[in-house]
Amino acid sequence: MWHVDPFSCYAVAGAGSLVGLGLMSLVRTDQPRVRQALTLYRWAFACMSGLFLMHFGPEPWQPDLLKVAIGLSGMGVALLAWAFRQLNGRRTPPRLGLVLTLLVGLVLFAAAWSTPERYVQAIGFVFALTSVALAGEQGWFILRGPQITRSEASLLLAASGSAFIWVSMSWHVLTVPGPYAPYWLHLPDWLLPWCCLMLALLPLSVASVVFAIINERLNQQLRARALSDDLTGALSRRGLRELGERMLAQQQRQPRDIAVLMVDADHFKAINDRHGHLVGDDVLRHLTQTLRDNLRVDALLARYGGEEFTVLLPVRQRDEALKVAERLRDTVARSPCESRSGPIPITVSIGVSYHGPGSTLEDDLSRADALLYRAKAEGRNRVVAEAA
Ligand code: GH3
Ligand code: MG
Ligand code: MG
Repeated sequence: MWHVDPFSCYAVAGAGSLVGLGLMSLVRTDQPRVRQALTLYRWAFACMSGLFLMHFGPEPWQPDLLKVAIGLSGMGVALLAWAFRQLNGRRTPPRLGLVLTLLVGLVLFAAAWSTPERYVQAIGFVFALTSVALAGEQGWFILRGPQITRSEASLLLAASGSAFIWVSMSWHVLTVPGPYAPYWLHLPDWLLPWCCLMLALLPLSVASVVFAIINERLNQQLRARALSDDLTGALSRRGLRELGERMLAQQQRQPRDIAVLMVDADHFKAINDRHGHLVGDDVLRHLTQTLRDNLRVDALLARYGGEEFTVLLPVRQRDEALKVAERLRDTVARSPCESRSGPIPITVSIGVSYHGPGSTLEDDLSRADALLYRAKAEGRNRVVAEAA
């Protein structure tokens, strides 16, 4: 086993926290939730960087400075748990977060000046509790989430590493009485070097992974923006192409059909002419909402252009699509838009085609469009579907 000096590991952990503080100050975001999480991370890493500053006393490794640094790190870990929650979108009342953080600091500072036995116990239990909370928070988040990303799993790994160190220490403290090491890390000899190594690397690992997670979230947000339409929030044409192609590709492996609906507002130009473009925009938003409210979440709704929308609808049987299209048409006709110039009635015409083997999304769209054209010619406010 290599020679390990726990004091130096504390120093590396402290230096890593300083780098973490720098990393967290580099991120710019306009998402308030992420911004608040970043503030908490900065405070957390600032507290933990105390482990580095204790090198600057008049003599190397003064026990009193180490005690202060350990108190601050405990508060840092509590702040990290709070920041994890914030980043995962779970709110902690600020007053509660602050009280818990100060409580952790208080316990560690009070224990520091009681007996060495008490102190080692307090360190073990407080750090075990906070880091288990940290790992639990992340594990819970991953379990509930729709998919596990690599960076979120890495964060769970780092948090579990920390929990392992401190739970082992608590166990060791309970089963082995003193003498206590001057660096307050009371662990069996075979485990000590590994835990020291982990401890040294933890802050920087957590900071890098959090950096990656925030980057991932910002990318997702940008992608969602690029794929959606500004006015209505429905998918843009580009979004329809990307997500639609994916849906069609997945369909081949499932026993279901996909119907393609082209939905066009009737005489929309007249609405614009009578009420103005701004009211026209309100009507488009209202129409989008009505369509969305009447579709299942697995359907894709896109604004194909102007006042024309496309729906990709997974169905078990083809006549189901006709029913959905009819329901959409009927609901739109019965839900006038409450605009600033009074209620504006609106109707839609719908063409329905079915995706079949060998046809592309473009084919399906153009067949649905031809049927939409027929619906218009036959008098509007109606559905025309391909033979099932
Ligand atoms: P039809 O029943 O045959 O579909 O008649 P229409 O008037 O709905 O069709 P037409 O294609 O002649 O006109 C579409 C109108 O939609 C013209 C255009 O000004 C309006 N439009 C397109 N995009 C927008 C938009 O983003 N906002 C508003 N307010 N109007 C739009
Ligand atoms: Mg129209
Ligand atoms: Mg049109």
